[in-house]
Amino acid sequence: MIDCTHDAAPARWVASARGHADFPLQNLPHGVFSPPGGGPRGGVAIGESILDLPACLEAGLLDGAAAEAAAAATLNGFLALGPAARAGLRGRLFDLLAESAPARVQARARPLLREAAACALHVPARIGDYTDFYAGIQHALNVGRLLRPDQPLMENYKYLPVAYHGRASSIRPSGGAVRRPNGQRKPATETVPSFGPSRNLDYELELGIWVGPGNELGEPVPIGEAAGHIAGFCLLNDWSARDIQGWEYQPLGPFLAKSFHTTISPWIVTPEAMAPFRVAQSPRAEGDPAILAHLHDAQDQAGGALDLELEVLLTTAAMRAAGMPAHRLSLGNARHLYWTVAQMLAHHTSAGCNLAPGDLFGSGTISAPGPDGWGSLLEITRGGRQPISLGTGPLGTVESRRFLEDGDEICFYARARRPGFAGIGFGACRGTILPARAAA
Ligand code: MN
Repeated sequence: MIDCTHDAAPARWVASARGHADFPLQNLPHGVFSPPGGGPRGGVAIGESILDLPACLEAGLLDGAAAEAAAAATLNGFLALGPAARAGLRGRLFDLLAESAPARVQARARPLLREAAACALHVPARIGDYTDFYAGIQHALNVGRLLRPDQPLMENYKYLPVAYHGRASSIRPSGGAVRRPNGQRKPATETVPSFGPSRNLDYELELGIWVGPGNELGEPVPIGEAAGHIAGFCLLNDWSARDIQGWEYQPLGPFLAKSFHTTISPWIVTPEAMAPFRVAQSPRAEGDPAILAHLHDAQDQAGGALDLELEVLLTTAAMRAAGMPAHRLSLGNARHLYWTVAQMLAHHTSAGCNLAPGDLFGSGTISAPGPDGWGSLLEITRGGRQPISLGTGPLGTVESRRFLEDGDEICFYARARRPGFAGIGFGACRGTILPARAAA
């Protein structure tokens, strides 16, 4: 899995890629972008630039089915490729952008780099179906303790990766405004519900998982083959209206409290780029049940987890106006997931459900064991009962938050590091809350 494309040493001729926190030469994530005045097309992030893949094809710098699939206006064809074709394209892109590329090749490729800041980024694939898991065990425990102090985890939690079917149509790329939803709210202090703006708007820090090659209806993907069906990763914010959720979710689960908007980071970070940052799945606690055979694979347990640092930042409108730095809400790690991404995929297909290239999973909210790493305000403020302070503004004012207010911006970052390797990141997953529409 680790090859010369992970070598930390080679300088690259794209100056902004040298030591870039997110997009050095060793990452090469795929996305769909529009340059100024142009339509959507496939591209690869490199430093502060985007390599325009259709232009590379036209210039004869790339060829083959994999390059064509990666250049298209939606990346479903690219996601359908298996690991071998994806790795082949990665090797070709690495050679093109490495310092060792011949000067004449560099001269031809340089004009095909677009300034990322000037481009619009899109949801990179047509998402057929979206499934949200609940694999962050610390989050499940924290929320469970709020709702059911006697039995925080349901009996099924350690036997299968719990999930619900989400809504694909409302997934949007990072940077967009997020309209506060209206909905039915019924606090414990009221006898009947009222319809109006959510008062308990929250975020959920999640890993997004892009499905690659699909499976036929009725033909489950065995756990040992599941990793080969995953084509990449992103950050995912499962915005959640806790008051609407608390009233509507029984007995079938989340509905409008989640489906009003989901934000993803727009770059697909491939499993090849993440190869150096694979780690063993954390051992199960003493007394936990053994993994059933259809979800157990020795190789997956030995290297199926991701060592990926996850950061959540909040800025309020007042903080931005005063030029204050963002407030860090948490710093966690994707290692704290109780189930691997391969287990999620194998479980999803185990009853016969077919997946397709471009389907998307959310991992579930990822919380670290300690409060500094909790992945939602529901946990950080103990259900809104313990507001957090955001520091002192220039006029001595102190803002606090139970849940998100209008004008608040939430931004996620993800960074993978390992001694001897170039660190990589996912880019931002950002959204700003707009006031609700006037309720009817
Ligand atoms: Mn979620």
